[in-house]
Amino acid sequence: MPDPNGFLRYERRLPARRPVAVRITDWREVYPPAGEELIREQATRCMDCGIPFCHDGCPLGNRIPDWNDLVRTGSWDAAVESLHATNNFPEFTGRLCPAPCEAACVLGLGGQQPVTIKQVEVEIADAAVARGGLNPRPVPASTGRSVAVVGSGPAGLAAAQQLARAGHAVTVYERDDAIGGLLRYGIPDFKLEKQHIDRRLAQLAAEGVQFRTGVNVGVDVTAEELRARHDAVLLACGALQGRDTPETPGRPLRGVHQAMTHLVAANRVVAAAGDGRPAPAVLPDGTPIDAAGRHVVIIGGGDTAADCLGVAHRQGAAGVHQLDLYPEPPHGRDAERDPWPTWPWVLRNYPAHEEGGERVFAVAVQEFVDDGTGQVRGVRIAEVTVERRDGRRIVTALPGSERELPADLVLLAIGFEGTEEQPLLAQFGVTRNARGAVDARPDWQTDADGVFVAGDMHRGASLIVWAIAEGRAAAAAIHSYLGGVGDLPAPVDPARQPLAAR
Ligand SMILES: Cc1cc2nc3c(=O)[nH]c(=O)nc-3n(C[C@H](O)[C@H](O)[C@H](O)COP(=O)(O)OP(=O)(O)OC[C@H]3O[C@@H](n4cnc5c(N)ncnc54)[C@H](O)[C@@H]3O)c2cc1C
Ligand code: SF4
Repeated sequence: MPDPNGFLRYERRLPARRPVAVRITDWREVYPPAGEELIREQATRCMDCGIPFCHDGCPLGNRIPDWNDLVRTGSWDAAVESLHATNNFPEFTGRLCPAPCEAACVLGLGGQQPVTIKQVEVEIADAAVARGGLNPRPVPASTGRSVAVVGSGPAGLAAAQQLARAGHAVTVYERDDAIGGLLRYGIPDFKLEKQHIDRRLAQLAAEGVQFRTGVNVGVDVTAEELRARHDAVLLACGALQGRDTPETPGRPLRGVHQAMTHLVAANRVVAAAGDGRPAPAVLPDGTPIDAAGRHVVIIGGGDTAADCLGVAHRQGAAGVHQLDLYPEPPHGRDAERDPWPTWPWVLRNYPAHEEGGERVFAVAVQEFVDDGTGQVRGVRIAEVTVERRDGRRIVTALPGSERELPADLVLLAIGFEGTEEQPLLAQFGVTRNARGAVDARPDWQTDADGVFVAGDMHRGASLIVWAIAEGRAAAAAIHSYLGGVGDLPAPVDPARQPLAAR
């Protein structure tokens, strides 16, 4: 029986992050393990609500009060089982999810701090490894049906695991040189060390999933060939079309890049060093993949921008400014605008923000300034107001507010415009909608029969937890399309939206 007074006895506490001065000298994860005593104390704060609103915040339908109570009583094996019943990869979400479940925790309604759900999750996920590893669950009998999964991010991998465990032969095709999607080279090691991906891949391989890297579907193998080889296809190619700002004067200057160009290259350098491979030192255009001694300006306020900030400090940047078009958000929930249990608009401080740099809100870049040689020297910014009129965003610069910031390296982290336009789309006969995403029917099929879609490619740039949820749901639909016996879990349908007030 859970402790109904646990939250009155214990404050919310998280393990201390590694000291800034130490962690910016390496690429290791920022958080050390919490330790059993702290995490059992924190799990005790869960009230096991009759109506657990944390469930509504999480698209996976994680059994949060169940595993909180199992951790409270030290029943780790049962907690591992319970967590994996709804989430294929809790070691990813436990480390990386912004935790909409915590925003929806009932404790928040009474002005208390929510349960540290995400920390409990990652401790259970790591306990699974510590207590004997991630045991594969191969199926005894094959269905004789086969599925191609295109793209190896969390959506593709979750679907692959579900389908393999249902007895289908699954092959994952990935154009990159390593499996993992954005988890591999998009998200830096200080947020997710890559051994977590490798352990899971070993489990999937032991369950029969085949991996083909370096295969760009639509180029190296045609859609027609893939359809001939497999009974169904799942497209999980992400939403990697970076937004740009071609109209801003000076955009073509050297040193002005899409954030992902710099970030992925920097993460590859870390990966290569870890494997003892020689690391590439420059981008294809000759730009050094290094912020050492440089003044860096990051434009944007989300995950990508924060990851660029952490990378810039680890590379030894002389200084970093992070620019945001919008005013500084409130530091706590504005209950009028975003009432509990919805996801609130608040100032999000990532660990990278503790490490230095200056955040500048309510400004827009007017020009990237040339040093006279074609290399960026600075960015000219103006203070702005942003309004919505007839659904359109109107940005107005305040006269006389312009100033220049020094910049040798400018990273555009201003969002994504959906899935990339690439040959695979036309070959499969699917189109991008107005948001650049690929629509799914209620059974996750695209306009092409037998071709399914999931993850960011369907939803637009989103979160790992949604990618896993959609991968699981699409796998259930494919299993049923192939005439599989019984139902697989389908936590979301294609129309499901996050819990929001507006
Ligand atoms: C820098 C950054 C940081 C982020 N941080 C977080 C975070 O902290 N927490 C969080 O929840 N979310 C975060 N996200 C979002 C999260 O990473 C994505 O929502 C998630 O990875 C989407 O998963 P996916 O499987 O749909 O696609 P992806 O992970 O994008 O994987 C798609 C894969 O498809 C492959 N592919 C594309 N076309 C082809 C083709 N023709 N043939 C073969 N392969 C192909 C791509 O190479 C890629 O590997 C972050 C995103 C970015 C960019
Ligand atoms: S809403 Fe919070 S307190 Fe209630 S069951 Fe979920 S985690 Fe526990």
